[in-house]
Amino acid sequence: MENMFEQDLDPVEANSPALTPITFVQRAALAHPKRTAVIHGDIRRTWQETYQRCLKLASALRKLGVKKGDTVAALLPNIPEMLELHFAVPMLGAVLNAQNTRLDAKTMTFMLNHGKASVFFTDREYCERAREALAGCDAKPKVIDVDDPQFEGGELIGDMTYEALLQTGDASFEWTPPAHEHQSIALNYTSGTTGNPKGVVYHHRGAFLSALSNVVGFGLPDGAVYLWTLPMFHCNGWCYPWAVTAVAGTHVCLRQPHPRPVFEALEQHGVTHFCAAPIVLNMLINAPAELKRPFGQQVTAATGGAAPPAATIEAMEAMGIKVVHLYGLTETYGPSVVCDFQDEWHYLPSKQKAQKMSRQGIPSLTMSDMRVADPVTLEPVARDGQSIGEVLVRGNSVMKGYLNNPDETRKAFAGGWFHTGDLGVWHPDGYVEIKDRSKDIIISGGENISTLEVESALYNHPAVLEAAVVAAPDEHWGEVPCAFITIKQGADALSEEDVIAHCRDHLAGFKIPKRIVFTPELPKTSTGKLQKHVLRAQLAG
Ligand code: ADP
Repeated sequence: MENMFEQDLDPVEANSPALTPITFVQRAALAHPKRTAVIHGDIRRTWQETYQRCLKLASALRKLGVKKGDTVAALLPNIPEMLELHFAVPMLGAVLNAQNTRLDAKTMTFMLNHGKASVFFTDREYCERAREALAGCDAKPKVIDVDDPQFEGGELIGDMTYEALLQTGDASFEWTPPAHEHQSIALNYTSGTTGNPKGVVYHHRGAFLSALSNVVGFGLPDGAVYLWTLPMFHCNGWCYPWAVTAVAGTHVCLRQPHPRPVFEALEQHGVTHFCAAPIVLNMLINAPAELKRPFGQQVTAATGGAAPPAATIEAMEAMGIKVVHLYGLTETYGPSVVCDFQDEWHYLPSKQKAQKMSRQGIPSLTMSDMRVADPVTLEPVARDGQSIGEVLVRGNSVMKGYLNNPDETRKAFAGGWFHTGDLGVWHPDGYVEIKDRSKDIIISGGENISTLEVESALYNHPAVLEAAVVAAPDEHWGEVPCAFITIKQGADALSEEDVIAHCRDHLAGFKIPKRIVFTPELPKTSTGKLQKHVLRAQLAG
């Protein structure tokens, strides 16, 4: 028999409504109706206005026939309408598929068909690809254009504009909470470097918890002023549309994260927080001096999506911007591991401090557990900072699974853990450090070589702008490291010997690249990740 604490105390409606981030916008409108919710060019809207627009949008979509379990796709930049969709679509029990705006038309068609989108929101900027993508659709969705005043050019290609759609909606619409908190809320496709992308499905509970985990991990205060440098399509802007709304903050929209508007926003709107991939931080660091504006407030930037070199963290902090380092995947609602800052790191010299901060860290608040383990036996590796294993996580911020793909879902969850496909080491202090994606690690004469470690050494050279290290086939060693390098503008000429000599000071002999290729640009994915398979193919060719 159960103990007395488990008797007659079952969950009831009064004490366990489904967790959902929709309540954040309702609360923001109640708590701070007059506070600025959104800034976009000349547009300013309060939380009351924003909530009412979400209700009208939900009501209008309902009139279009959108119901529970339907997919609403959005190919939009970081504009207020994209934010509103993050609340209005779940209000109907429907699922938001925010699409990567940089993809080709063929992939967009694949996603529209695979996700069975019934409505598709788009923007004049993407009209050509959107039109082409729609032409290939099995069943054409209803197309709604956002006619954004901040963009000139392009054409309206849809059935009606967003504002016209809104006019058909009713602000007294009563939304229904999800029937249960594992009901789906979002569909996000992985980048699919090999084969078709996989559709990662999120639930309301995960979105709610991930958003709150961001609030804590990033230290978002009530009324934070958040700049939209990270695309809202990437893991739902890593869940920040919901997180910033949870603190009734101000969303400062931005169509493109170019240095000029970023520095202008820091100065003009008192931005306190923003998120960006390391490549965007590098762009800010290397921006011309005349673009860098002074700002008086404390600014914190969260970075992740790729390993930030310690040199990048150091340079950001030298610009007066505090850095928080996060690690995660589309499958974990974005950040699920955070490099919590230890008090004693304040006293370290800046290089060493940045080194500590460049480790990926410990599980975020809403992840239950993490280990670095043998991918087959799932036995944890020693916490010695040396032994390599796969990073495994479990918790409520792990996806429901891949849409219509039970085999891949089963593989991803084998043995009760989510398999990240990243290889790392575990340090004695419990911090994980990623060494490579499993497909990128180099095995040379039976020894593992972390390409991230070699790249980090290359970034320490003052003339190196970007570096990518990949395996080159070798008859004797099996594989050897080869480095592709871009050089900073105005830097002194650099020879292969110079680079190898620099590496000799920083790396063990077997890790030194055997070949250096100077290139004007490195191939990257639409979310700024290095495309190492392209470089490997180049070497093989
Ligand atoms: P993709 O579709 O390219 O897999 P994701 O955004 O899901 O897109 O990418 C997740 C991957 O990005 C991780 O598996 C890891 O390899 C890399 N990554 C993310 N954050 C970090 C980080 N802080 N440090 C190192 N690698 C990272």
